[in-house]
Amino acid sequence: MSNINNIPLRTCRVCGIHAFSKEELNLFVTSSRNKHGKLNQCKDCTNKRNRERRKKNPFHYLCLAKKSECKRKQIPFNLTDIYLKKLWKKQGGLCILSGLKMEKPYNESDFDWVASLDRIQFDKGYVKGNVRWIINAINTLKRQKDDAFVYKIAQAIVNHNDLHHNS
Ligand SMILES: [Zn+2]
Repeated sequence: MSNINNIPLRTCRVCGIHAFSKEELNLFVTSSRNKHGKLNQCKDCTNKRNRERRKKNPFHYLCLAKKSECKRKQIPFNLTDIYLKKLWKKQGGLCILSGLKMEKPYNESDFDWVASLDRIQFDKGYVKGNVRWIINAINTLKRQKDDAFVYKIAQAIVNHNDLHHNS
């Protein structure tokens, strides 16, 4: 049906790859308002561009993502990227619970060491004065619990380890 001599259905304006068939159109970004339901931009180029944007301004994109998440889940939210950047500076890029150095919050980093927003009081939501940066590894452990819970677990691990090495 289609062959290479046809005019391409879509062409990525970034990398220049063509789509000559329906299958190849799957590689392009969907957009119902455009010809063949696709933009003249491939998914790879779009993902790459999004990653670069997140890397360049991680606080802005994290803020946007949190805002829409909070709207969906009906959680209070009033953070701004400026606030998050200031909070990061205030903490010196260190996890407030462990003192460990955090990676900035964009997806490509090593998940466990990436900074995540922790709510000091869980039910108060993502509002100024109620959030702080902690590493993902600890946030995964903490979830909806308080600091005492994290300290109890951490202390137990340290104590157990000491006991093990001293016996
Ligand atoms: Zn492309």
